[in-house]
Amino acid sequence: MTISSDGTQPGGQRGTDTPAPPPLGPPPALGVDMRSAVFLDFDGTLVDIAEHPDDVIVPARLPELIAGLSEALDGRLAVVTGRSIAALEALLGPLQVAVAGSHGGEFRPSTHAPVQPLAEPLPDAIVAELRHFSEANGGLLVEPKPFSVAVHYRRHPEALEGLLTCAESLASTFRLGMKHGKQVIELAMPGSDKGSAVTRFMGLPAFTGATPLFFGDDVTDEDAFHAVRNFDGHGVLVGPQRATAASYRLPDVTAVHAWLENGLDAALKSALQGETRA
Ligand SMILES: [Mg+2]
Repeated sequence: MTISSDGTQPGGQRGTDTPAPPPLGPPPALGVDMRSAVFLDFDGTLVDIAEHPDDVIVPARLPELIAGLSEALDGRLAVVTGRSIAALEALLGPLQVAVAGSHGGEFRPSTHAPVQPLAEPLPDAIVAELRHFSEANGGLLVEPKPFSVAVHYRRHPEALEGLLTCAESLASTFRLGMKHGKQVIELAMPGSDKGSAVTRFMGLPAFTGATPLFFGDDVTDEDAFHAVRNFDGHGVLVGPQRATAASYRLPDVTAVHAWLENGLDAALKSALQGETRA
């Protein structure tokens, strides 16, 4: 079943007998002595979502902040995004950190390592069918990725019902995973998601034994919120409270940046004190 980004089922209300989830508090500050690992979604977590995916505004400080914190954590930081790695680096520049793209379809354990594909490429026929639907419905934005395809209906909400029917048919025919995110339907090759990407990172020497925190805003991040629990970690939901497997919540992108900056400050102070003592 597809779950939409507010936790409701498609076309329906939240069940009246479902109690409202308890409000979640913010995550504790990053402990510099703690062996934390930090996983970061991109859209809606590190940058505000824009009308068009290419229009997101990347704060000039962001690449430096991510790289600095990764260094402070001895490499135990990864960006885990639905975007392709190429699309992410077009916005952020060459990433100096570990990254998984395309909802876990692409995996790069460190900056200079080659990208490891974790899924089969998406058949061209799927993109062609969705483009055909898009053109017949006012021109929805079809975004092909190496292992998935996203259709953004933000400008054409009236097309959602038909889009769901078309996507569900393709998902069934080609045995694809289907995700309903914020104003976007995404079809992905099976075998990878953000949860499997996190699990794979946690098996790398740099991450082994660490306590992971995964920051994400959308339903596609719920796989990762579940995965980090297997390593005694926690999900951090970014945005309004909703049904979620996360343990903590931050209200918006600004609060995520503040949490990351505080963590980096603490790490740098700790390193300075260590040098003074040495
Ligand atoms: Mg997101």
